[in-house]
Amino acid sequence: MSVFMQKKYMSLEAYTPGEQPQDMQYIKLNTNESPYPPSPGVLEAVKSEAGRLQLYPDPECRILKERLAEANGISPENVFVSNGSDETLSFAFMAFCGEEGVAFPSISYGFYQVYADLYGVKKHIIPLSPDFSINPESYFGLNKTIVIANPNAPTGLTLAPKEVEQIISKNPASLVIIDEAYVAFGAETCLPLISKYENLLIVRTFSKSHSMAGARLGFAAAHPAVIADLEKIKYSTNPYNVNRLTQYAGIAALKDEDYYRANCLEVAKTREYTKKELIKRGFLPTASAANFLFAMHPSYGGKVLYEGLKQKGVLVRHFKGIDDYLRITIGTRGQSDALLQAIDSILNREEEHENSTN
Ligand SMILES: *Cc1c(COP(=O)(O)O)cnc(C)c1O
Repeated sequence: MSVFMQKKYMSLEAYTPGEQPQDMQYIKLNTNESPYPPSPGVLEAVKSEAGRLQLYPDPECRILKERLAEANGISPENVFVSNGSDETLSFAFMAFCGEEGVAFPSISYGFYQVYADLYGVKKHIIPLSPDFSINPESYFGLNKTIVIANPNAPTGLTLAPKEVEQIISKNPASLVIIDEAYVAFGAETCLPLISKYENLLIVRTFSKSHSMAGARLGFAAAHPAVIADLEKIKYSTNPYNVNRLTQYAGIAALKDEDYYRANCLEVAKTREYTKKELIKRGFLPTASAANFLFAMHPSYGGKVLYEGLKQKGVLVRHFKGIDDYLRITIGTRGQSDALLQAIDSILNREEEHENSTN
């Protein structure tokens, strides 16, 4: 830290993205990316827009917003777009989290904590149930901004729209932010509820379901007044937040919904296959509806497994505080088989070791 950094940031703990090591070619099951490339239409759109990079992008993202509105049965005034959904979350914390603070689950997306700290917002951390589920009642009448990932990360567990609606209706004076980064892999969206509740902000991303993590495109849906607030923050921060290539990539991706829906279905199928195979090997995975599994093995520590897998060229995510667990991104069936093979050789080696020392 330099001597110029403000004191208030001294203890700020920044978000740690999943590692992207360059020392060898890993099977990357650690950052929840899609294993599939963007659709041909997206590649075409990026290529044809590249020749206009000398021009600023449309700060209003008009066409993209219109297409997003059409695709979700809402109007463009209900739509906000951003540089990844992380930016929407950042703007939302800036815009809406005041004196009363922000509430979120004890185990959830790490950025909620970081944004709260960055903007000096008081955190109210609500414990999960022992089975990692979110108890809706513990969010009733909080009178604070509420942020919940649904499906939750890294557990993959979901709340039903009815339960989310209870939380919204029991907090009429607070904004409820539902982060639906993983909704396309098997959960039900709460987006239609925005027509009924002014205190709901739905946050979505093209990163996981639409193979565009590298393009950085997120969007949000809410009552026009809430969207206008986000626009105000955006125009006070970075009016050209979504670059030209990404805007056109997004527009093209929305034309290829069939392709992305099929990919998400395939990922969900591979998830169920991988889950079954992990259970056969003694793992205890949660009932994830996302593009990852969250699992522990009763006889092996998470760190041992994480390191063993890394040594064998398979990267998974291992978090502080939930040390027994691994979060394993679902890639292709082939990647899952490579993961399972690596796991087998770790488990067998340990067994052999036990036999030889007995
Ligand atoms: C990946 C993720 C995001 C952020 O995605 P972007 O790439 O910034 O769109 C937001 N919330 C959750 C829960 C995520 O897992």
